[in-house]
Amino acid sequence: MSRQKFSPGALRLAKIAKKDIEARERYVRDVVKRWKFDTVAVHGLYSVEEALRFNQGAVVEPIFMSSSQGYYSADHMEAGLGYLVPNWCYSRIANPSLYYLEATMALIEGYGCDDLTDCCTFSSGMAAIVSAIEPFLTRRECGEKLNFVATCQVYGGTFQQFAERQQKDKGIEWRCIIDSTDPDEWRRNIDGNTRFLYGELPSNPGQAFFDLDAVTALAHEHGIPMIVDSTVATPALLRPLARGADIVVQSVTKSLASSGFGIAGALISRRNIVTNVRVPGMKENFAQWVKFLPGRDNGPNLSPMQAILSLNDIRTLRPRMDRLSRSAQRVAEFLESHPRVASVNYLGLKDNPLHALARKYMVLVDSEHDTGTKENRYGHLLSFCVDGSPKDTRDFFDALDRIWRATDLGRIKSVATIPAISTHSQQGEEGRKMAKIQPTMVRLCVGGEHPDDIIADLDQALRRIGSPKKKRAFPTFAAGGGAALA
Ligand SMILES: *Cc1c(COP(=O)(O)O)cnc(C)c1O
Repeated sequence: MSRQKFSPGALRLAKIAKKDIEARERYVRDVVKRWKFDTVAVHGLYSVEEALRFNQGAVVEPIFMSSSQGYYSADHMEAGLGYLVPNWCYSRIANPSLYYLEATMALIEGYGCDDLTDCCTFSSGMAAIVSAIEPFLTRRECGEKLNFVATCQVYGGTFQQFAERQQKDKGIEWRCIIDSTDPDEWRRNIDGNTRFLYGELPSNPGQAFFDLDAVTALAHEHGIPMIVDSTVATPALLRPLARGADIVVQSVTKSLASSGFGIAGALISRRNIVTNVRVPGMKENFAQWVKFLPGRDNGPNLSPMQAILSLNDIRTLRPRMDRLSRSAQRVAEFLESHPRVASVNYLGLKDNPLHALARKYMVLVDSEHDTGTKENRYGHLLSFCVDGSPKDTRDFFDALDRIWRATDLGRIKSVATIPAISTHSQQGEEGRKMAKIQPTMVRLCVGGEHPDDIIADLDQALRRIGSPKKKRAFPTFAAGGGAALA
């Protein structure tokens, strides 16, 4: 990865370390990649041997609250900072706690891939997205007008990143796909200056879905990578890398870490991605290249504390997504039959136009080992439109008792949002129209409460539309606000 000249001592250490690296890879290929999903999610690469060798035998991966590591000698330091031997140098670059999270994320997102996968974690999902796309949007030849092709139905923050930060600030064209189910629209937008294709599967909040296999084939036909934001599905329900996509980004903040202690993101890539950008090392192991070079220089690193908090939630991802998806299905069916609801957007509903397509992709991992058949699950995010005005929508929203009003999702607690006035307010009316975000739309992420109680809360709130408001305690204003920006 470097053209540096190393001392004989550093090179000697590199030779010794090579055996360690090979043994680790053998352990991944011969042992860990043969486990079922739940076993991988629970243990990752943290074994008894690893615990006794490095961590005083601790059963749970330790939180390494240390800014840097010490070295035995000048040779060791030189080899470490030259990336010749496994080491973590400095917590902006790497850290053992991050390593354990990254190993688990690479393994569960790569579950079902023949080859190895790698992960780099970030301080947020947005940092993961920016770090995944920017390497393809640099090294512009003189006069070359770069573009990327991405669905317009994306998370509000991603919309801003593409429209404001990339397009407006840097002049990189975002070719926006309006109907992502139309392969011709994708094809028409790609040309010699396109650097990648990008899509969210399913999209937040609109539940847009596209034929990943077809779009990935199109990307590869043009020599460019397919990047997928798979936050809403999580690797328990969909694993784009196993279907040939090159890079997956995750907001680990969301369903992956449902307890909601903090923000985190991840980028996972397969080996030898398809790309027309020629930078040494980038193609072979994209996630590792991002971690050790642009990651080191830009500093979007995750904290060790948050890494282990997130990791702890990920262990129970599959049973959690199973249960939450089944509750969401019940809630969606209830809303569909409610007279005050105009429409429900949930991929699990049979009359959803994208149901057949989603059925092909959204499957509870390893469900065939439980029941003998592959079971479809569609996640716990849904959206619906109140039958009425934007004011009626606010009335309903204000009347919710148990369900939280917050701009969050993936929580073990049910959370509702009005996207037009929150997550998708910045993109303006035109941007919302394009992304099909109506002013009466409510996004609901169904939590781990009993579905009967969630349904009861929705029902009483829908019944209160047009009635006088419930009396609530006067709000206090939290510290550290963004009032100066508003
Ligand atoms: C929340 C979210 C993001 C951004 O993640 P943060 O962790 O909030 O930075 C990206 N994509 C999707 C689909 C999301 O829901």
